Amino acid sequence: MSAALRYLSTRGASPVATLSEAIAAGLAPDGGLYVPDHLPTLSIEDFKIGGSLAETAASLLTPFFAGDALASELPAICAAALTFPTPLRPLPQHPHTSVLELFHGPTAAFKDVGARFLAASLRRVRGDHATPLTILVATSGDTGAAVGAAFHRQPGIEVVILYPDGRVSPRQAHQLGCFGDNVQALRVQGRFDDCQRMVKAALNDAALQAKSPLSSANSISLGRLLPQMSYYAHAALTWWHKHHEPLNVIVPTGNLGNALAAVWVRAMGLPLGQIRLACNANTTLPDFFAGQDYAPREAVATLANAMDVGAPSNFERLRWTFPQVDVLREQLQAHSVDDQTISATIAMHAREHGEVFCPHTATAMHLLNQLRAAGDDASWAVVATAHPAKFESVVEPLIGKPVEVPSALAAMLQRSASAESMAAEDGVLRGWLLEKAAQHVEAAS
Ligand SMILES: *Cc1c(COP(=O)(O)O)cnc(C)c1O
Repeated sequence: MSAALRYLSTRGASPVATLSEAIAAGLAPDGGLYVPDHLPTLSIEDFKIGGSLAETAASLLTPFFAGDALASELPAICAAALTFPTPLRPLPQHPHTSVLELFHGPTAAFKDVGARFLAASLRRVRGDHATPLTILVATSGDTGAAVGAAFHRQPGIEVVILYPDGRVSPRQAHQLGCFGDNVQALRVQGRFDDCQRMVKAALNDAALQAKSPLSSANSISLGRLLPQMSYYAHAALTWWHKHHEPLNVIVPTGNLGNALAAVWVRAMGLPLGQIRLACNANTTLPDFFAGQDYAPREAVATLANAMDVGAPSNFERLRWTFPQVDVLREQLQAHSVDDQTISATIAMHAREHGEVFCPHTATAMHLLNQLRAAGDDASWAVVATAHPAKFESVVEPLIGKPVEVPSALAAMLQRSASAESMAAEDGVLRGWLLEKAAQHVEAAS
């Protein structure tokens, strides 16, 4: 058996951590992102043929968990978190083309995979703690719902979701506010960046942390990134056993968490071929991969709002994986798709093929259509990151009819929802958290 992996910060100024410590912390103390000291390698024979997603995940993640306090719990964590399918569905009207559907979880977006795995891991890392841990989430929509659903009614955890009022879809807002119990939504009178700043200020506030222990659950947590590798491994192995060739993938991309998972799976030796990033009008990654210097910038708002990112947080991990820029540039291609093209792609597929895609998935479908038009006949999987019913206000006018709502989402929309309004000020959140902590102390005494 190989030695246990150690976890380091991408910025190199944090003490070495175990996997449990890295998962519990989220962000490394020096502000960097946790990475393993090297990527392990596996071969196709290390996996059971026809294994379930949870079984594939447990085999894939064994080297990451080896030697950690959670190692013996890994199969149980995978079984508890990965309870819904991530099918690779062939598109009948498009030869050599499949859709990797990642939206069959409770909140109908791929972020359910990471959020549920993080919740199952944190529950075991923390054991029975007397003081509740408050998880703060700034969200532009999908993350908050996935985290809320994953931690709903989990003992010892409180979740506080901050979202920009009026800047998420009506259904997303409803989802964020429908949990109740230990999950509370705050509609912030500002932008997503304000929400993120307020969360960071609270997390960095030692005096506040002493009264109310806080953590985060954003996409930089290893506990969210690692499980996202499992659906790529599962799809690549399924494809390999059937067709004896690697599967190429096109990934709708914002913060690079989903695509990085694919890059790591390929670097570990599993049969993924090309990986292409589909971005919206935020061109930080397409510009970099086209040869420009890396230049993070302010995000612009688009129809694919979960990808409205100007400074992709996982870029640091990608750089760590491939320190030489020219080697890094050989790994990926990235292309930008504007709103007009997103709309046209959604409308065309509905009209000509009876297929309905969410705006994020449509960026990847467009890149595929371009490849096909240029004569590419390789096997591609387009990654479908959310169900179109989540973005009905964009999709329905384009296709001229209602989108059928998946049952889990319908159940959430049936519940009542409420969110407290909050000014976009760090001090206001601080006061609110202190008051909440005081109420807890009172209730406990
Ligand atoms: C979060 C999200 C993305 C972007 O994923 P990253 O990991 O941030 O690149 C794409 N599509 C949907 C629907 C999302 O919720």
